[in-house]
Amino acid sequence: MTGPLKNKTNYTGKKLLSVLAHPDDETFGMGGTLALYAQRGVEIHLICATRGEVGEIDPEFKETIKSAACLRTQELRCAAEVLGIQHLHILNYRDSGMPGSEANTHPKALAAQPIEKVAGEVAHLIRQIKPDVVLTFDPIGGYRHPDHIAIQKAAVQAYDLAASENFDDPEGLPPFQANGLFFNTIDRKFLKIMVWVLRLIGQNPHKFGRNKDIDLVALTDVDYPTHVKIDYKPVKKIREKAAACHASQGGIQMNKGFRGFITRLFGRPIDTYMQAYPEVEEGRKVQDDLFL
Ligand SMILES: [Zn+2]
Repeated sequence: MTGPLKNKTNYTGKKLLSVLAHPDDETFGMGGTLALYAQRGVEIHLICATRGEVGEIDPEFKETIKSAACLRTQELRCAAEVLGIQHLHILNYRDSGMPGSEANTHPKALAAQPIEKVAGEVAHLIRQIKPDVVLTFDPIGGYRHPDHIAIQKAAVQAYDLAASENFDDPEGLPPFQANGLFFNTIDRKFLKIMVWVLRLIGQNPHKFGRNKDIDLVALTDVDYPTHVKIDYKPVKKIREKAAACHASQGGIQMNKGFRGFITRLFGRPIDTYMQAYPEVEEGRKVQDDLFL
C-alpha cells in the first residue's frame, strides 16, 4: 500500500476519540484525519461539549429555524455521517462565544464551568469508550476561543483521571489508560503565510474571521512542536462534503473561499499534531500515524 498511513494496513478494533467544543470543530480542525481513519476501519467517537448556541448564523437561515443549537446539531449530525464518525456524545454545555461576550457568563456556558466537572464527564466517557488515542485542541484552543481552551484543559485532565484509581466513576467503571493524547495544531508556517497574504491584499490580520475576532498575528507568537503529520489527500473530497454540512457557518464558502484558495496555493491537505502523552523523546522524526 502506498500513500498516507503506509505503515499500517489493519486498524480493525482500533478506536479514536476526539474531544471538541462546537459543531464544526470536528470538520474544520481535524476532519481530514477523522475521515481518513474512519475509512481505514477505526471506530471514531466524538465528544462535542456544546451545540454551538451562539454561533453567528448566516442571515438566510435565521427566519426558518427554531434555534441556532437545533440547526447546528443537525449540521453536526450531517458532518459526522459524512466523515464516518459513528458515535456522537454531546455534553450539553452552552457555547460561550468569544472573550468578553455576554454568553461567557451564562450559567451553562462551557467556559464558566469548573474544569474538574467537565473533566469528570469526559473521563467517564473515556472509561466507557476505551479509545486507543485521544485528540483535542492545542492549549490555546487553536485561536484562543474560550470554549476550545476549556474543553482542552478538561480533556487533558480527563486523560489522566480515566486511568487513575482515585477517580470515582459514576458507574463504577474500572480505570482505563489510553495509548496517546494528541493536540491538533495550526501549522505555523501556514499561519505566517496567511498573515503575509492578508497584509498583501490590504486586510487586517489582527481582525480575521467571520466575526473579525481572531488575531492571527498573536497566534504566530505561540508555537507547538509537530510530532505527527496526517496527509488526508485520499479523503479531501469527504472533508469538503462535511464542510458543506455546516452551511450556517459558511461551510460552503470555506471550501471555495479565502482559506480554500490559500490551501490550494501553498498548503497540502495535512493535519498537524503535537503528541502530549506519552512524552516524545528529543529528535524523534515526524510520524505519519497517530496509532504508534
Ligand atoms: Zn469551535
